[in-house]
Amino acid sequence: MVDVISPDPVGLHARLRPAALACIDLATDRRWTYRELDTDIQRAVSVLQAEGIGKGERVAVLARNSVYQIILQQAAMRLGAIFVPLNWRLSLSELALLLKDCGPALLYTDDAVPPLPPGCRQKTMADLMADVHAAEPAPRCAPHSGHDTCIILYTSGTSGVPKGALLTSQFLLATAVNFNILGEVDTGCVFLCDSPMFHVIGIVTQIWPPMLRGGTFIVSSGFQPEATNDRLASADFGVTHYFCVPQMADALRYAPNFQPQKWTKLKALFTGGAPNPASNIRWWLEQGVRMVDGYGMTETGTTLGMPLSRDVLYEKAGAAGLPGPLTSIRIVDEDERDVPDGTAGQILVYGQNVTPGYWNRPEERGRAFTADGWIKTGDIGRRDEDGYITIVDRLKDMFISGGENVYPVEIEAALIQHPAVREVAVIGVADARWGEVGLAFIVPKSGQTADPDDLTRHCQSLIARYKVPKEFRVVEKLPRTASGKIQKHILAREAQAMEKA
Ligand code: ATP
Ligand code: MG
Repeated sequence: MVDVISPDPVGLHARLRPAALACIDLATDRRWTYRELDTDIQRAVSVLQAEGIGKGERVAVLARNSVYQIILQQAAMRLGAIFVPLNWRLSLSELALLLKDCGPALLYTDDAVPPLPPGCRQKTMADLMADVHAAEPAPRCAPHSGHDTCIILYTSGTSGVPKGALLTSQFLLATAVNFNILGEVDTGCVFLCDSPMFHVIGIVTQIWPPMLRGGTFIVSSGFQPEATNDRLASADFGVTHYFCVPQMADALRYAPNFQPQKWTKLKALFTGGAPNPASNIRWWLEQGVRMVDGYGMTETGTTLGMPLSRDVLYEKAGAAGLPGPLTSIRIVDEDERDVPDGTAGQILVYGQNVTPGYWNRPEERGRAFTADGWIKTGDIGRRDEDGYITIVDRLKDMFISGGENVYPVEIEAALIQHPAVREVAVIGVADARWGEVGLAFIVPKSGQTADPDDLTRHCQSLIARYKVPKEFRVVEKLPRTASGKIQKHILAREAQAMEKA
């Protein structure tokens, strides 16, 4: 017998609430009740068995979001196989590396991806749909261990090459439980899902919480600000929960059809994955929308979240919240000793929501974990007297100017309050006098000019002098990952290249 079994929420809800609406696929306008979804997953199990997929084998997907990706993920999990959603916005050479790394027995693609060189066996998502439609449901498999890997999920590649985090079904369950408790998710929930399914928000956080509760998830093929604004305002959908990275929330706000007063059923707009400045959160609260920030990683799923109380959200704006019930947090110094409340240190995470390690990289386990099994997040955080944790910055992005630690996120939070600034990224660059100084990349709002002297004065009024960037560069856009995160290693390379030129 296995000690912890792999959870099967769809199988359970097919019995508990068979006629409840499980999901809608917006691209095809198809709907599934829990009973229908369960049956289609068993059909997909037959399809994978007929393809010869066995336990531990990888089934990869390079395609836009669809309910069929979820059917495939669930079927692979029931079979003991491993689902690998890949980022279709990567270049062919980047994809070739990931495909070599995960070695799938079968790869499903759609027309979002340019033709791939032959290597592994390929089929299309249209083939999958037709095959599922034609198949008989397979007999149920025996339950697997909750510690088996069921998804390999590559990290975003914000700070370098993506690593394949191993997600067990315990991880998926713990993330859903953490989110459901923190985010007040109940059976009547309706999640709008348009974050890419190759990212942890897309394949785990926007799907597993409603699935665990027997609620509804509405899947769109991808994020488009105007379409999302319309869906949030739709009385037919009655969306209660929406999760995105802060950059997507910004895009909603700047789209012409932004009418948050029509989001009447929305309990909260959840953000995570990148810094969300306090001034931004307060702006959303003033529009009548509860913006609830949370923190997690590919390696830790939903880890921290803010409560939904408007007063707390306003008062604690800028914090990423409290740990979920299945998670413990420590904040430590360089010697892994706990620091007092109010002091910044590296965040360590322990709990069922933590990955056991990385695919094909056993050596990373030693680097990424403490001797007693806490994952070292590489993020700096600070806990306040009420237990709320604020994410200060990534350890890699911190720089030292004249002997003082400088956190670029704090400078960005100051600059984003300037009326001409739409987007900003700050990095540390070498400086003969101070060791390192800040270099700010600014995307101005349309029709506005960002004057360096004015930006300097603005910063001086909000942050200490040694933190004020020594240089401001106006750019048209910032390099971002497919999930919208700013890739500072690319900015650093550009800055170095300009330095040499
Ligand atoms: P890679 O590991 O490949 O460099 P990545 O770290 O961006 O990419 P993800 O796992 O998608 O990959 O992102 C997790 C990271 O996102 C966290 O480690 C943290 O740096 C950042 N992050 C997540 N939530 C927040 C938040 N609420 N505020 C600030 N940063 C956040
Ligand atoms: Mg990371």
